[in-house]
Amino acid sequence: MAWWFRIKLWKRVFLGLALGVAFGLVVAQTMDPVAAEALLAKAKVVGDVFIRLIRMIVVPLVFFTLTAGVYAMGDPKKLGSLGVKAFALYFLTTFFANLIGLSMGALFRPGEGVDLGGAEPRQIGEAQPLGERLMAIIPENPFTALVEGDMLAVIFFSLLLGVGLLMARKEGEPAGRFFEAASEAVLKMTYIIMELAPFGVFGLIAYVAGTQGIATFTAILSLTLAVYLGCALHMLIVYGGLVRVILNLPFVDFFRGILDAMMVAYSTSSSSATLPVTIRAVSENLGVKKSVAGSVLPLGATINMDGTSLYLGIVALFTAQAFGYALEPQHYFLIALTAALVSIGTAGVPSASLFLLAIVLDVFEVSPEHAALVIGFIFPFDRLLDMMRTVVNVTGDAAVATAVAKWEGELDEDVFRAKPAS
Ligand code: ASP
Repeated sequence: MAWWFRIKLWKRVFLGLALGVAFGLVVAQTMDPVAAEALLAKAKVVGDVFIRLIRMIVVPLVFFTLTAGVYAMGDPKKLGSLGVKAFALYFLTTFFANLIGLSMGALFRPGEGVDLGGAEPRQIGEAQPLGERLMAIIPENPFTALVEGDMLAVIFFSLLLGVGLLMARKEGEPAGRFFEAASEAVLKMTYIIMELAPFGVFGLIAYVAGTQGIATFTAILSLTLAVYLGCALHMLIVYGGLVRVILNLPFVDFFRGILDAMMVAYSTSSSSATLPVTIRAVSENLGVKKSVAGSVLPLGATINMDGTSLYLGIVALFTAQAFGYALEPQHYFLIALTAALVSIGTAGVPSASLFLLAIVLDVFEVSPEHAALVIGFIFPFDRLLDMMRTVVNVTGDAAVATAVAKWEGELDEDVFRAKPAS
């Protein structure tokens, strides 16, 4: 067994991913459909166990690491400067995501000639009014927020608790140390859970590959291409550029450091389920100090979704092309703005943004029937698109955390540049 643990985790996870795809495709091609479905469902159980374990750890992890992270800053003022930088970068990277998304949509024209006639209309999402959403950030009862896993409310309470501990100075010290110890413990629990990642990723991806197959890619080929290419370009140009040009750090080491998180994001399609892995990868492999990783990443996983914003822009253009809506220049601007706002409000769970698409389509007054048809058309294939946009969402959080850490003097560059042992 020792040989297995000697292999770097990201290599094991990658192996799980590659074998999972191969297994799913072979099972689907060679077995009779009922037996194949049953076997794939068994593989998925392993994946579901893995997802449940990481879901289990998300709320305690955010609560303890965020509170401990703020406490570790030693000065409440530092929180302000860190917050401003993180928000500025969340905003800027999302702006570029929109630019790339709309260019892909205009270049590939994925909706041209698509007949949505046969699609089953799907229920469309209702937007919660902005005022209500903002108010909900303040929990009426923090314990209810913890129990219900209401992330923004948990984040708000933890930030404030960390500040309170800092301000209590000497009296606050034992409690501050308790939170630091607890956050270490939950991180250790994450390590244990991550040992299951290669198997969990295998099960999840085998199920997706076996039930959706290659045919899924080809059915909506140009939309898939536009989304995948847009996501890849965004990661390479925007995050790669930020790391290489602005931070002056090696670009390959950045992506290698967060590969585990990218693969878990790809197989789970959920940035909040990936959060424990992201925190671990960013602090262990990129050398981002816990005070930054523990505060910037939970916030990012909740509100910074570049992949989602990019995707919503492409799908909006897809809809306009499929139904022949003529767009004016101001529509492009409004699509970008709305997509960015919707991405902030999107939960980090599978397919969350597809059902909020109607809000973006409202910008050019798409009829509710058309919106429901588009959602119905994309729904069966959304998993493949979701996997890729979630990778971007997670990578974006890691890039912002790295930049903020560097600017705050909280980045251990030796760790960042260290070459992996195997
Ligand atoms: N699945 C995405 C995420 O968790 C959200 C979305 O549906 O766009 O990041």
